[in-house]
Amino acid sequence: MKGPIAIVGAGQAGTLLSVFLARRGHEVVLYEGRPDLRTTEVVAGRSINLALATRGIVPLVDVGLIDRVDAITIPMRGRMVHAADGSEPTLQPYGSRPHEVIHSISRADLNGLLLDAAEATGRVRVEFSAELKGVDLDRSELSFADGRTAPFGTLFGADGAGSRVRAALVDHGTCRAITDRLDHGYKELTVPPAAGGGHRLDPNALHVWPRGGFMLIALANPGGDFTATLFAPWATFDGLADVANVRRFFAAEFADFAALVPDVADQFLANPTGSLATMRATGWSHEGRVALVGDAAHAIVPFHGQGMNLAMESVRALDRNLRDHPDDPATAFAAYEAERKPDAEAIADMALDNYVEMRAGVVDADHVARRGLALDLERRHPAHLSPRYNMVMFSTMPYAEARDRAAAQHEILCRGVADPTLDLDALVADLPPLPELDPLARPDALSLA
Ligand SMILES: Cc1cc2nc3c(=O)[nH]c(=O)nc-3n(C[C@H](O)[C@H](O)[C@H](O)COP(=O)(O)OP(=O)(O)OC[C@H]3O[C@@H](n4cnc5c(N)ncnc54)[C@H](O)[C@@H]3O)c2cc1C
Repeated sequence: MKGPIAIVGAGQAGTLLSVFLARRGHEVVLYEGRPDLRTTEVVAGRSINLALATRGIVPLVDVGLIDRVDAITIPMRGRMVHAADGSEPTLQPYGSRPHEVIHSISRADLNGLLLDAAEATGRVRVEFSAELKGVDLDRSELSFADGRTAPFGTLFGADGAGSRVRAALVDHGTCRAITDRLDHGYKELTVPPAAGGGHRLDPNALHVWPRGGFMLIALANPGGDFTATLFAPWATFDGLADVANVRRFFAAEFADFAALVPDVADQFLANPTGSLATMRATGWSHEGRVALVGDAAHAIVPFHGQGMNLAMESVRALDRNLRDHPDDPATAFAAYEAERKPDAEAIADMALDNYVEMRAGVVDADHVARRGLALDLERRHPAHLSPRYNMVMFSTMPYAEARDRAAAQHEILCRGVADPTLDLDALVADLPPLPELDPLARPDALSLA
C-alpha cells in the first residue's frame, strides 16, 4: 500500500482498522470530524449502547483487546418481553447454550478503548475536529472544513452511513449507492438507576415492549441506567409534539416503563428523533488507492443489532485480503468487496425482517411455536440446525449462508408446527452440517455473568 495511509472516521470501523494496519507495521493518520470523545461530553440521543455479538467479538480477540472490552460489557441472555396487558414480563432465551448471550456495550466506551489501543501502537496519529469536506481523487488530496488539505497515498473511508469518501467515489463514477429510508424513526430515552444505585429492570436481558406497528427496547448500562429506544412510524412521532400527548401515549402503551421514567415527556421532547436507512453500494474501491469500510460501505437498519458487528467483521476481512495480496491493493480491495458484498446484502435484508419479528413476531403464537420448535430441534441436532437469530448472532458463517439455511429451516419449522406427526428428525438430519466456528470465536471470550 502506498503511503501516507489516511483513514477518515474514528468510529468502530476506522479505529479498529487503524489497529489492524498498525499491527502490520503501517503508519496511519486517522481523521475524525468530532472532538475527542474521551474528553468531551457525548451528545444524548445517538445509540448510546450497542449489542456486541460473536462477529464483533472475533476481531477484538484477534487484536488482543477482548479482555479490556470484557470489563465494559453486560451479558444479555434473552428478550424480556413486556406485554401490553401489563402481565409479568417473560424471558425468551436467545439460545440453549450458556454462551449464547449478547453483550450490551457503551458506544463511547468502546470507541474510547479502541482509540487508546490505536494510539498505544505508536503508529496511529489521530486528528480530531478534522471534518472532511472533499476528496480530490486526481491529486490524491483530502480537504477539510477548516481549509486544511492533506495528501494521501491510500485512503480508507470509514466515515459512516453519510460517507463523504463514498460521495467522492460516486461523483467519480466508480461507486453506485442506493439509500432506502425507512418510514420509521427512533428516539432514545434514559431509565435512571434505582434510588440506592443498581438497575430498575433485569440488566441481563434485552427488554422489548412489542406493540405491533412500533416497539420500545432497553439495554442496561454499567452505571445502573438503561438506554431505551422507541422505534415507530414517523406519523407516530408527528403526533407526539407536546407533554400531554407524550404522557398519554406512554401511559397507554408502556405503563410499566413510564412508571420508571418520571420525566419521560421532557426527555422525549428534548432528544432528537433519528432516521433509519439501508444503504447498498457497489464499487467500494478506486484504483487500489481508496476503499470503503463499515457503514460507509454497507449501512443497515439496527433491528438485528448487527451494524457494528458487520462493520468489525468487514474490517478483519479487509485486513486478511490485504495480507493475501501485499503488493496488489487493487486486487485485495476487489476480493474484499466480492467476499463481503453478498453478506452485507444478506444481513441488510435480515435486519429489516427482524423489525417485524421484534415488534410483532415475539408475541405471535405461530412465531413463538416455531422458535420453540427450532430450539428443541437444535438440542437434538446441534450439528445440523441452528435458529436464524443464533446463526446471525452466535456464529461466524457468512451471513448469506445463514440467510439461505434459515429459509430452508423455516420451511421445515412451518410444516412441523402445522403437522405434529411429521418426522422432523429425518428432515433436519438431511440439512447440510453447520460449518465450524472461527477458531477465535471462543465461547468464554466475554464473561457470562
Ligand atoms: C439506534 C441504533 C442502534 C444500533 N444498535 C446496534 C447494535 O445493537 N449492534 C450493532 O452491531 N450495531 C448497532 N447499530 C449500528 C452501528 O451503530 C453502526 O453500524 C456502527 O457504529 C458503524 O460503525 P462505523 O465505524 O462504520 O461508522 P460510525 O460509527 O458512524 O463512525 C463514523 C465516524 O466517522 C466520523 N465522520 C463522519 N463524517 C465525517 C467527516 N466528513 N469527516 C471526518 N469524520 C467523519 C463520525 O464522526 C464517526 O466518528 C445501531 C445503530 C443505530 C442508529
